[in-house]
Amino acid sequence: MSLGPYPERSWSLSKHKEFVECRRKYFFSTFEQWGGWELAAPERKQRAYRLKKLFSFHAYLGRIIHDEIAAALRKSAFSIEESLSRVRKRLINAFNDSLNKQTRWEMDPKSIVMFQEVYYEREKWNKQAADSQINELENKARTCLQNFAVSNSFKRLQRENCEIVEIEEGFPSFQLDGLKIFSVVDLLFRKSDGSMWIIDWKTGKPNEDYEERQLKIYSMYVQQQHNIALEEIYCTDEFLLEGESVGYSFTEEDISIEKQRIRFSNKKMEELLADVKLNKPKDMSDFPKRSDGHCQFCSFREICLSDSSRSSITPEARSKEQNETTANSKTRIISRLPPGINRIIVDSPLRDEYGTPYDELEEQFLWKERMAEMDSEMLTDEEDY
Ligand code: SF4
Repeated sequence: MSLGPYPERSWSLSKHKEFVECRRKYFFSTFEQWGGWELAAPERKQRAYRLKKLFSFHAYLGRIIHDEIAAALRKSAFSIEESLSRVRKRLINAFNDSLNKQTRWEMDPKSIVMFQEVYYEREKWNKQAADSQINELENKARTCLQNFAVSNSFKRLQRENCEIVEIEEGFPSFQLDGLKIFSVVDLLFRKSDGSMWIIDWKTGKPNEDYEERQLKIYSMYVQQQHNIALEEIYCTDEFLLEGESVGYSFTEEDISIEKQRIRFSNKKMEELLADVKLNKPKDMSDFPKRSDGHCQFCSFREICLSDSSRSSITPEARSKEQNETTANSKTRIISRLPPGINRIIVDSPLRDEYGTPYDELEEQFLWKERMAEMDSEMLTDEEDY
C-alpha cells in the first residue's frame, strides 16, 4: 500500500505535548518529516525525518528498560543481572553507533542509534565521557529494574491468577468522534474477577498531570476495545526510579472531561490545516516557533535554528538560549524550582535528587504551564464546549 502525501489524521497525547510545547516542532515532527525516508524527498524533509529518529539518553534508556520488562513478562521470568548485562551491551552499541556511524545513520536512521546529545555536541564525547555516561545510565537501569522486580504489579502477576491481555502491542488505537487516537498500553491484564488492570512503567521523573491524562486515555481504549465497564478498570503508574506505585480509577465524568480536552486539542490542530480531509498543513510560517528560547532539548533545532526567519523569538530569549548552550552548568542561575522539587544536587550538569538534569525539570514545568493555558482556553471557549 502506498502512503499518501500527508500523514493520516490522528491524535495522541505525545502529539498534543509537542503541539503545546512548540507549534513549529509539531510541524516538523508531524508533517515535515513525512516522506523523508524517500531518497527523492527534498533535503529538509529527509533531515526532519532523521532528526525525529534521534534519541535522548534517557528516552533510549526508557526504551531498553521497557523492552526488558516486556521480555520478562512474556517469559514470566526475570534475572536482574542478565537483564543488566543486556542493557549495558545495548548502551555500548548505541554509543558506538552514535560516535562512529553517522554516515550510516544518515542512510538508515531506523536501524542505527544516534543520541541527540552526541549529535549536537560531538566534540564533547570521547571514550572516557561515553564510559562515564554509560555507567550513569546503567546505574539508573539497575534502580529501575530492581524496583520492577519488587513492584506490586509484577508481584500481583506472579501471585494471583491473572491473564496477560496486552504487552505493548504494535500501534493500538481507538476512535473518538471518528478520530483515530493512538494509545500504547505497557501492560494490560485481567484478574480472575474479570477486572482489567492497566500498568504504566515510568522510568523518568513523575509528571502527575501527564501521567493521569495518559491513564485516562488508556482507560478509554480498554473500555472501547475490550467492551468493559469503567468501574472494572484499574490503573497503576509504577515509578521505577522511586519504587512507588500510584493507583487510579476514573469516573465517567473524568473520562468525559478528558474527551473534551482531546476534542479541543484536535480542534486547535485542525485550525492549522489547509485541508482537513487530506490532513494537509498550512504553510510552515503558520506554525510559530516558541518564543521563550527553551530549545535546548529539541531534536529539530538543526533545521529550525539555522532558519533566519526567527521573527517570533525575542532578542532576550535568543541571548538566553545562546548563554544556556555555552555556559558552564555550574554557573547557571536557578530562577525557580518546579513544584514538588525541593532539592537540587549541584554538580555538572545540575540535577535533582533522582538524577534528572534540571533543564529537563524546568522544561517539564513549562510544559505543564502550557497544558494549563490550553485548558483554560478550552473552558472559556464555551460556545463549543
Ligand atoms: S528549535 Fe525551538 S523553536 Fe524550533 S522547533 Fe524546536 S522547540 Fe520549536
